Amino acid sequence: MRVVNISTNVSLATMTTMGLGGTANYVVDVTTDEELRQVYLNAKTMSQPVYVIGGGSNLIAHDEGYPGVIAHMMIPGIEIIADDNDTTTIQAGAGVSWDELVRFGVDRQLTGIEAMSGIPGSAGAAPVQNIGAYGQELADTFVSLEAYDIAKDLFVTLSAADCDFSYRRSIFRENAAGHYVITRITLRLFKSSPQPPFYDSLQRHLDSSQITEYTPQSIRDAVLDVRADKLPDPKIVRNSGSFFKNAIVEKWQAEDLQKNYPDMPTYPMDENHVKIPTGWLIEQCDLKGELIHGMRVHKGNAVVLINESATHYDDLSLARQTIIDAVRDRFRISIDQEPLELMTP
Ligand SMILES: Cc1cc2nc3c(=O)[nH]c(=O)nc-3n(C[C@H](O)[C@H](O)[C@H](O)COP(=O)(O)OP(=O)(O)OC[C@H]3O[C@@H](n4cnc5c(N)ncnc54)[C@H](O)[C@@H]3O)c2cc1C
Repeated sequence: MRVVNISTNVSLATMTTMGLGGTANYVVDVTTDEELRQVYLNAKTMSQPVYVIGGGSNLIAHDEGYPGVIAHMMIPGIEIIADDNDTTTIQAGAGVSWDELVRFGVDRQLTGIEAMSGIPGSAGAAPVQNIGAYGQELADTFVSLEAYDIAKDLFVTLSAADCDFSYRRSIFRENAAGHYVITRITLRLFKSSPQPPFYDSLQRHLDSSQITEYTPQSIRDAVLDVRADKLPDPKIVRNSGSFFKNAIVEKWQAEDLQKNYPDMPTYPMDENHVKIPTGWLIEQCDLKGELIHGMRVHKGNAVVLINESATHYDDLSLARQTIIDAVRDRFRISIDQEPLELMTP
């Protein structure tokens, strides 16, 4: 079969929400499993590397661009595949917008993903970093995914255990990076109401708006309001959302820091670890609102970097290093970047 929808010399800056990067030799819009297979088989024949992209909202491209084929995942469709007294199981193509999938569930009064309303990007990328927001994460409702195993030229089904999800990570960011292309995800949502306790900032918004009836729709509306205040819209302002992951530190280290910073917020992760909001750490370094090498530290949420006037990857790289160094020098905490990098193979 012939591969359709192919473009040449496409600017990666236009395909990624951070708005940086050179050109890709080819971009192919992939709408079916068979098209995906053909992209890989043809690229192999032509000795071209392939990189997979969804909405480009968690991806930083480099100035040299990509000397190969970008497979732009556009497999459509949302289907209900099982239904019982308590749950409804839905399956979405990798190219479905994540927020469209959330809306699909909310419209059917299903709960489980409504707090993740408004996260940009595609359903197919959601498992890659086990997306999460306001107390929910993908792993909570995840059943399985279908993927193309590139080396074996086979379509496979992977369970939650296979994906090995944890905070903002899965096998697809680590040892299995570049092994699979996710084609469909399957989630089990619940026929019940969202249950408190909710994330602090969400609860504050619910209280101040006097919302006491908790439905998937009321939580979705509240989350969208809170996000609009805290996160710049990537359609208007170039950014990749949270540029750094929250810091996970040992409990003793947080307790030690709290002697000097009694207001430092912490959230329990497990018996020995706590999460510290990286935005708070960056703010304490007096960097909130600052313009560093063309990157603006967002004034509403210091964990977000906005590409205000950066033109090269190096600008971003210098800004990133300034922030990492400042946090390390003040808190002895090493912070990690959240978006992935589109590397030349
Ligand atoms: C304003 C803003 C707010 C955000 N808020 C949140 C948030 O609250 N929580 C959160 O978790 N994230 C958040 N993000 C990050 C981002 O939206 C998510 O990580 C999202 O899942 C990325 O989807 P994408 O389709 O844009 O992925 P891309 O950026 O296109 O790709 C990201 C990575 O996934 C890989 N990938 C993409 N599709 C596939 C596929 N089908 N199969 C295999 N690999 C694939 C790519 O190769 C790349 O390595 C935010 C981003 C922005 C810009």
